[in-house]
Amino acid sequence: MSRPAARPTSPPASVPVRAERVTTRSLWSDTTWHLDGLRPSRRAYQYTLDWSFQLPDESYFTDPQWSDWLHAAKAFLWSLRTDPPEGRFAAHETTLIAVFKALRILIRWMAGRGCRCFSDLSREAAAEFIAEVAQRPGNSGKTLAPATLAGYHNLLWLLYIQGSRLPQVAIEEPYRAPRRGRKAVRGWRPYTPDEIAVPLVSAAVRLVGTPADDIIALATRAQAAYDEALGRGVSPTKAGFAVVSAIAGFRFSTLPGEVQPWHAAPVTSTKQVRHLADRLYDACFVIVAYLIGARLSEILELQVGCIEQQPSGDGSEQFAYLVGRIFKTVRAREGKPHRWVAPAPVVRAIAVMEQLSAPLRRRSGRQELWLVLDSTGLAGPAARIGLPHGFTIVGRLNQAFARFIGLPPYRGKPWHLTPHQGRKTFARFVGKRDRSGLHALQMHLGHVTRVMTDRGYVGTDFVLDELIDRNAREETRHALEELLTATALGGKAGRTIAERSRFRGRTRDGAVQAYVDFLMKETDLRLGVCDWGYCVYKQETSACAGDEKGPNPLLRTQSVCAGCSNFAVTDKHRPVWEARRARNVELLGQPHLDPESRLLVQQRIAECDGVLGQLDATTHGA
Ligand code: SF4
Repeated sequence: MSRPAARPTSPPASVPVRAERVTTRSLWSDTTWHLDGLRPSRRAYQYTLDWSFQLPDESYFTDPQWSDWLHAAKAFLWSLRTDPPEGRFAAHETTLIAVFKALRILIRWMAGRGCRCFSDLSREAAAEFIAEVAQRPGNSGKTLAPATLAGYHNLLWLLYIQGSRLPQVAIEEPYRAPRRGRKAVRGWRPYTPDEIAVPLVSAAVRLVGTPADDIIALATRAQAAYDEALGRGVSPTKAGFAVVSAIAGFRFSTLPGEVQPWHAAPVTSTKQVRHLADRLYDACFVIVAYLIGARLSEILELQVGCIEQQPSGDGSEQFAYLVGRIFKTVRAREGKPHRWVAPAPVVRAIAVMEQLSAPLRRRSGRQELWLVLDSTGLAGPAARIGLPHGFTIVGRLNQAFARFIGLPPYRGKPWHLTPHQGRKTFARFVGKRDRSGLHALQMHLGHVTRVMTDRGYVGTDFVLDELIDRNAREETRHALEELLTATALGGKAGRTIAERSRFRGRTRDGAVQAYVDFLMKETDLRLGVCDWGYCVYKQETSACAGDEKGPNPLLRTQSVCAGCSNFAVTDKHRPVWEARRARNVELLGQPHLDPESRLLVQQRIAECDGVLGQLDATTHGA
């Protein structure tokens, strides 16, 4: 069916639109609205709303017969920006786009059932609509994620609420969406599990060390040879041969403690040079995402010279900050300036990106650090340079970068990385009060945590602060539920809980959750979480000489905790104690062990036996 020319439309009188122009490029009557406020990680087409979408009868929504409904739909969408519901911010462009997409699906669905306006949507029909979209396959082929489905519920509620001032969009009050369980919320945009995050970030940190200097030197030599050959008028293919000759003798460094260069030589093509430069680029992205918790759009917006040194609150030392802008949750389109605490690997990653992006910045006249070439190989005279799309970053992280660093599988399957996981994982790291399982990252994260609690630091990313708090609360809640319901409990505090908990052996039902709510809100109970057990903290009985803030991290060890009155351990920690016992039994078998060490090893085995025996005793006595 050929597509008819769209009839120009104008807003109905009741619509709160002050001018015909809705954005700098679009009028109210336009068939296509081009929204302003394009973010660095997006493409222009993603900020385009096309009202001429097709309906089940093969007509278009801009055809004359749909005119009133089209006006109403435009009025509704635009009202979210100009006259949002009570207590809500004016909708940002990204919200308008999300609502538009859901609205388009609703209108198609309604039109297919003979509806001609929003008010044709009865309460029952709205419920039917939700039931149908719940069965739709999402991008992964599975049914829609709870958060996506919540977007449709939200659309119906917005129509209902805005209907109080825009009669043309009024619908009956929809059924309330069922509350999403905590499990579903946890599953939405997950953090990267430690088994993946630790090797991922560690490999990225390794790569921005000496290997980064090698890659930059290689890329610089290759690009210079390419430019020189092209300048002599040779073809790009022959210039490629000149590059291969120029880099034939290039050798990579051998890192301290290693016996071979970190990468094999020679490099035999321009494609390989580009491959190495791209992996360095990915490593820098991972470091910034995972060690400061910035979003994709915030990272791509970073510009040369974005590291700043500031004195700490008491002026005794200098801290490095990354200076950029945050866009999400901010009303202003240009975002809001923000400073992130920058640990040493982030400072280094930015320095690397400044060198790596210098040729592209020179060619394009732009200042962003994460510029990329829109082609493979080296930069030619007609190189197209821009910021990458979010999909490109996701693809690179999961394919070339994961392969390059040998990222291990998670429970037998490849883990799917997304840029947002960096932020979630960072929040979880910082929110974790005990990072015993994160030795490789502890130094960097410890630095960030210390600076974030420094009195001179004023963060403006309140959403991130909230995310960190939420992670800490969730961790405590989870641990409390486990302690209250566990059948096997060891440690002195664990045995006390085992004697008193009325929830022992039960599932984590509503009563348990209500009691945990009570404990968290109404008591001053403080729970520490670590690999080998829980600390039900009381300063007066703390064997590690903790203070009013909590346990002493320097003295808390498995041996000290095992004899402390605050210690509790469940079956979940059994493998840690079994492995410790096995290690020490093996040590005991060593013929050259001196008597002092032998005694220490025997003590450790006795501690492990004590903890494991308590777990066995409570299991059988439960
Ligand atoms: S020694 Fe005691 S107070 Fe210190 S962390 Fe271990 S259980 Fe907690």
